[in-house]
Amino acid sequence: MQLKMMLDGGWVSFTPGQTILEVAHSAGVNIPTLCYYKEADHKDICRICVVEVEGSERLVPSCSTPAREGMEVWTNTERVMLSRRKTIDMLLASGRHGCFTCDANSDCRLQDLAYAHGATIAESLPPSDMFPQAYDDPFIYRDYSKCILCGRCYAACNEVQVYGAIKNPFGRREDHPGPECWYPLPDKDKCMVCGQCIDACPVGALVEKNARGAGRRWETEKTSTTCTYCGVGCNIELNTKDGRVVKVTSGSGVGVNDGSLCIKGRFGYEFVNSPERLKKPLIRTSPKGAEVPTFRKASWEEALGLIAEKFNAARADNPCSFGAFSSARCTNEENYVFQKFARAVMGTNNVDHCARLCHSSTVSGLSMSFGSGAMTNSIADLAKDADVYFVIGSNTTEAHPVIAMKLKQAVRHRDAKIIVADPRRIDMVDHSVLWVRQKPGTDVALLNGIMHVIAHEKNGGNSKFIKERTENYDDFFQAIKDFTPEEASRITGVSAADIRKVADMIMGAKAMSIVYSMGITQHTTGVDNVVSIANLAMLTGNIGRPGAGVNPLRGQNNVQGACDMGALPDVLPGYQKVWDEAARKKFEQGWGVTLKDKAGFTVTEMMDEIYAKRIKTLYVMGENPVLSDPDGNHVKKALAKLDFLVVQDIFMTETAQFADVILPASSWAEKDGTFTNTERRVQLVRAAIPSVGESKPDWKIISMIAEAMGVDGFNFRSARGIFNEMAPLTPQYKGMSYKRLDAEGGLQWPCSSHKHPGTPILHTEKFTRGLGKFHAVAYRAPAEKPDAEYPFLLTTGRILQHYHTGTMTRKVAGLNHIVPEALMELNPADAEALGIKDREMVKVKSRRGEITIRTKVTFKVAKGECFIPFHFVEASANILTAANLDPISKIPEFKVSAVKITK
Ligand code: SF4
Ligand code: SF4
Ligand code: SF4
Repeated sequence: MQLKMMLDGGWVSFTPGQTILEVAHSAGVNIPTLCYYKEADHKDICRICVVEVEGSERLVPSCSTPAREGMEVWTNTERVMLSRRKTIDMLLASGRHGCFTCDANSDCRLQDLAYAHGATIAESLPPSDMFPQAYDDPFIYRDYSKCILCGRCYAACNEVQVYGAIKNPFGRREDHPGPECWYPLPDKDKCMVCGQCIDACPVGALVEKNARGAGRRWETEKTSTTCTYCGVGCNIELNTKDGRVVKVTSGSGVGVNDGSLCIKGRFGYEFVNSPERLKKPLIRTSPKGAEVPTFRKASWEEALGLIAEKFNAARADNPCSFGAFSSARCTNEENYVFQKFARAVMGTNNVDHCARLCHSSTVSGLSMSFGSGAMTNSIADLAKDADVYFVIGSNTTEAHPVIAMKLKQAVRHRDAKIIVADPRRIDMVDHSVLWVRQKPGTDVALLNGIMHVIAHEKNGGNSKFIKERTENYDDFFQAIKDFTPEEASRITGVSAADIRKVADMIMGAKAMSIVYSMGITQHTTGVDNVVSIANLAMLTGNIGRPGAGVNPLRGQNNVQGACDMGALPDVLPGYQKVWDEAARKKFEQGWGVTLKDKAGFTVTEMMDEIYAKRIKTLYVMGENPVLSDPDGNHVKKALAKLDFLVVQDIFMTETAQFADVILPASSWAEKDGTFTNTERRVQLVRAAIPSVGESKPDWKIISMIAEAMGVDGFNFRSARGIFNEMAPLTPQYKGMSYKRLDAEGGLQWPCSSHKHPGTPILHTEKFTRGLGKFHAVAYRAPAEKPDAEYPFLLTTGRILQHYHTGTMTRKVAGLNHIVPEALMELNPADAEALGIKDREMVKVKSRRGEITIRTKVTFKVAKGECFIPFHFVEASANILTAANLDPISKIPEFKVSAVKITK
């Protein structure tokens, strides 16, 4: 229904429920605001947006006054302007607004308003000691002498990020004698340094510390691109000056994040400008296995000549003796060119990347159940349409912060419910209605127990969905028959009553989203876990609808894309099997070569092949297996046995130290291309600064190696050119182009033609494989269990402030300041029994190796269990983990190892 009101003398239409401010903004009439914060529904504090309404004695705030049919509104009468001017004068007089020395100069709404209304700074400023200032945060500079008490930071922290670190600041000054009582100072224990409050602050009270003095607004350029860290794929703006990144911002209403970022996305860019960046090719001068490896600088010509000679010799000798590790950190174009190089030039399918270590179980498991192994829903639809979230094996707050934020918003703003199943007391537990703590490695038993209640006890499955959309239900039904909640409880440690409660909540959901991550996949039963999740979704009909689906959250920025591009040993781009003759022929024609029809080795298998000296030459692009792979000592021994190792990276990684040649690559801030995020959205990455030193984009380096080897088919001149070669060969990407990605803010695959709008929700009418397939899954225990010699169960994972093997985040001073070292979580009862105090150094030993690490005594982990993050070389968790593999996906069981702990 459309209504009409008069605005500044002209009639405008509006829909019921809109405020005067919203109507004015849609009509292109500017009403200034200060405190108004659309995303947080925060308003009505500052009275800058007042307007005159015919028949009303008082001026009314337009942000909170509903528009009415026939209403007559005036936005800039003399009375309105005088009122605004008075408000501005009052705000300017309330603090110390010295614009020339303020970092928000030219980026300050109060300054803009003062200028527009002819207001000036009061002659006598309040004394500076009446305002608290806080400079101790590594990233945020807080100067409350500029605070206008608008409350936007409070709204940002509570309503948008849902961290709740800032208390309501709106007490009356006279009721609170000390300034700390009424200024919005954050609670340090709750503040996760996301910087949303900086973004919200309309003045210079909250500013980014590192950006101070680095460049005023008019001196910097903004380049819109995609975050380089996790798979959420937030849109960011790189603010640059003189070829350096000086700040990261994010525009409201843009991208999956709608202006929100986490600590890494907003503040973790310093590594780009690090003096430790590799700037020239390096050639090894020390012998293999030397404790302190040495390298000399080389020209590109010399380095490429040496690589071409060795690679040509390797392919002439035996293509199977060559291995290639691609990278989830690199762009789609680079992964495409890399796997093409391995297959078309080196003649091998021995190409893989670290998806093997995080979500290969998802790729295999969901393909078996649904026909395609990716997140079924969109982040936006997950956020707004699900009424129950079942978060299992996902520490969402730390690994995928912006998705966690959306789930927490759903709880806070529309009463959605979260069920958490996790062995650790993760942050999500605080936002859940029910937390069940299963023993690590018992997820199949837990899921079967829940499904037993639904299918056998309550007959509560969605029979219509099962009948029309699925197959193999009877086998599955029989397989869960004996999994009574009591039996599941015996295995998982979760009470039978809680298992029944979870089942009840799931049955009562209108739209349930299952959210999972590496707590599910990184097991010898990783594929079993994933197909069990798929069983639960099909049993309850929670798939293929808004808010209802199976949502594996992918870890790295482009792990989805690297898989899509065929950086896997068994599939060509678009998951086309290497043994499928028609698919192979298509690529053979496109690339002008003959391709192998047998799958190559996975990352984990390749390490054993290297150790056995069957793979002798290895090319590693942007991966760091010394820290990321299980059984780190075995990895180091294997790498030392290689005849020739080339590592291409932005830093001298722990793996690069084993290399014969190291090639300097450009960081993401220096290159064009695309990343595909966890919701299958292909998004542009845009170069914001020139490549550092002599570094080059990875795609260019691979092309140069191919050319040096005398091979045709790699004369790419741009990332766009590579995309244009890849898209027609890759069914899911067929309808995409840079032009569309730019114009449409990314596209979600499958996108089969230039008119196809992309696919926000998979499996709506039918599954990719036709019918969804139920699998009968029996419970298998983890491969290694605690025993008398190694009595503790170790799990590993991520923390918010650091990332993967720390190659980038550990070059960011502020992140290192907040978390300088690895901490092993240990239950207080175990700490007491071992006589270990909080923050005490301990030795942790497994059958593979030993590390020394500081302890954090906390109830976050259960008795008998411990947790170590895997980002730290000084206490590398993967020295301890075992290379026990899932039989189908070949993922290692990072989540369960047996260790002993000594003082
Ligand atoms: S940085 Fe984030 S968590 Fe901390 S006070 Fe600001 S909005 Fe809240
Ligand atoms: S610190 Fe900034 S956002 Fe927070 S109340 Fe003060 S002026 Fe508003
Ligand atoms: S949530 Fe992920 S993509 Fe978004 S800013 Fe943080 S690290 Fe970057």
